[in-house]
Amino acid sequence: MIDSILRQLGGVARTATLRARGVTGRRLQSAVRGGEVVKIRRGLYASPDAPAVVRHAAEHGGVPGCADAADLLDLWVLKIEQHCVWLGRAGESHPGCEECHVHWNDGALVFGRYPPIEVVLLQMTECADDETFFAAYESALRLMTISPGGIAWLWRRMPVGKRC
Ligand SMILES: [Zn+2]
Ligand SMILES: [Zn+2]
Repeated sequence: MIDSILRQLGGVARTATLRARGVTGRRLQSAVRGGEVVKIRRGLYASPDAPAVVRHAAEHGGVPGCADAADLLDLWVLKIEQHCVWLGRAGESHPGCEECHVHWNDGALVFGRYPPIEVVLLQMTECADDETFFAAYESALRLMTISPGGIAWLWRRMPVGKRC
């Protein structure tokens, strides 16, 4: 039951969110013991079925960002050169991983969701090469996953060299 709640929530949720859905602390603990739920860190739980990048980002206290998020959001991603995590504006970095690049861009982070497309694309202007960025940007336009407001937001923040 907790597993299906977690799945509805995108695979990762805070204890408070689970409590609000009627999951008691005792039930949660026994689900962790039974392997039905994975404890990521204090107050944060995941479904064992959640993608590995999602669970790893949660270990950082964030959600997948940049090319990782673009890939999960079905944009065209030519290559992922490095794994990136988005901590939102109020995140705190989690030491112990040398591999991930951390993004702190504005926005309210919600576990189990990906950053807004315009935030993902802005992150990619930092980490992806031009070809990879433009392929992802174009696919967002074609799939209409970015809103006109999102496009305007992105262009206001994009480095001048990336504007075409
Ligand atoms: Zn990045
Ligand atoms: Zn990491």
